[in-house]
Amino acid sequence: MEDFTSLRNLMVETQLKTRGIKDKRVLNAMGTVERHLFVSELLKNHAYDDSALSIGEGQTISQPYMVAVMTELLELKGDEKVLEVGTGSGYQSAILSILCAEVFTIERIVLLAEKAEERFKKLGYKNIHVVKSDGTLGLPEQAPFDGIIVTAAAPEIPDTYVSQLKTGGRLVIPVGGRYSQILYQVKKTGSGIKTSMFTPCVFVPLIGKHGWTEGDTNNNY
Ligand code: SAH
Repeated sequence: MEDFTSLRNLMVETQLKTRGIKDKRVLNAMGTVERHLFVSELLKNHAYDDSALSIGEGQTISQPYMVAVMTELLELKGDEKVLEVGTGSGYQSAILSILCAEVFTIERIVLLAEKAEERFKKLGYKNIHVVKSDGTLGLPEQAPFDGIIVTAAAPEIPDTYVSQLKTGGRLVIPVGGRYSQILYQVKKTGSGIKTSMFTPCVFVPLIGKHGWTEGDTNNNY
């Protein structure tokens, strides 16, 4: 039996702190959520590795560092309402759930959404709401949001997300080609948007009306 708590603490020290993650609340959340419970039995022993892992259906749970960077860029204080697009395993939603008030998370693959929902129930995460739909449309009925985090790669910044943010709200999204992207933080201000670019990254594609088409081989990388 692995000592998952030690592995998790080591992950926070060696993968996150040394690479510049500073937000104490984010570091605490990453040290708390049991990542090994969000992957299959076979991959449990790799849950705290410095990498993305397969979660089935051709999808992945992001590398811990990427989860931490994206979460830090949301600049959460605790009372926010956040939208996540791409529930996947539910790991990122669980991190968000302890850093803000309410999490709405959208997943297009029903099987993954149902597995994540079961996990949240079992582990006692009560402020996460799973929606099965095309997340490129956002979630107009719950908008506006303080933060929107997109954990799949978009060809460009969909206007739907900007319009569903509060003034002062933050959108964090990987944007670029189908096989490599740059992580963006977009802040909605009173007079428009302020876009900042962060780290290069590789995400699975955001597939939907305002994203990629399934099986699309066009690329602009
Ligand atoms: N945040 C996840 C990582 C998910 S990988 C985690 O912590 O495990 C990206 C996910 O986005 C995949 O599950 C994929 O099915 C989903 N996805 C892709 N396009 C989507 C869309 N338009 N709406 C909702 N989910 C989408």
